[in-house]
Amino acid sequence: MDRKTFLRTSLAGAAALVAAPGALVSCASPKEKKSSTPLHLSFQEGLTPGESLAEKFDFMESLGITGFEPGGNGLAGRVQEIREALQGRDIKVSAICAGFDGFILAEDPAVKAQFDTTMREIVRAAGELGSTGVIMVPVFNWQNPALPHTLETRDYLCQQMHDLGEFALSCGTTVILEPLNRKEAFYLRLVSDAAAICRDADSAGVKCMGDFWHMQEETSDYAAFMAAGPYLQHVHIASRGNRVMPGEDGDKDCYTDGFRALKELAYPNYVSFECGCRSDDRAATLTAAVDLLRRQWDEA
Ligand code: MG
Repeated sequence: MDRKTFLRTSLAGAAALVAAPGALVSCASPKEKKSSTPLHLSFQEGLTPGESLAEKFDFMESLGITGFEPGGNGLAGRVQEIREALQGRDIKVSAICAGFDGFILAEDPAVKAQFDTTMREIVRAAGELGSTGVIMVPVFNWQNPALPHTLETRDYLCQQMHDLGEFALSCGTTVILEPLNRKEAFYLRLVSDAAAICRDADSAGVKCMGDFWHMQEETSDYAAFMAAGPYLQHVHIASRGNRVMPGEDGDKDCYTDGFRALKELAYPNYVSFECGCRSDDRAATLTAAVDLLRRQWDEA
């Protein structure tokens, strides 16, 4: 098609759309997406009341929680147990929280090899459980010796993430980069920076997440999530002063700016509790926290 024909066809198409606004019905406007996007909440295993998985899942179901986030450590040996406990329930495995040994930006090849082996074992189990992905931090401040914070290291990280992402895809899941804050992991602090690494890793198996606690580094929750767009695969939530239950830090615990972005993006995955609890009555505090988040989601 030459340029003239292309222009003619495009203009004719545009004119047809103007003449027949009904043709746009299938393309929801941001407002339509916003109002219809449901909030999918998830609990990490450790913070859920109950001794057994069955007790934990009973409690989650009583609150309408549909996501379960276990740790990655020992996950391969638990696939059967978790599958059986989930049978017949309206709960799915959300993301898997880390649990590997070593780290991807280790200078020592033996420590890097530890990461490669244990991470792939967790990714395989995550795929078997239908998980949205395995969360990872490239390097914590305390992990030494690490590769220097240079352009070459970023290129290396993108290449390594590409390989890992392709492996995750072959297992039916993803790997999820988690930015932290400068006190914990100077290397990766902003959601948009993690999203840019996803883009440059060039694998659909490489995703990122935002954690409302660590997002104190961001200037805008809304902008952070919007910048991540389609790369956003998971969200963590906690109170915003002391990393306890949402609501336990009072008025500080406002999530509507970030929730507004998630609704506009029609974010399909989970918002998962990763936090402590100040109160002795964990069940009551979790119940109140879930109410608070649902209220703020409606308001956003
Ligand atoms: Mg987190």
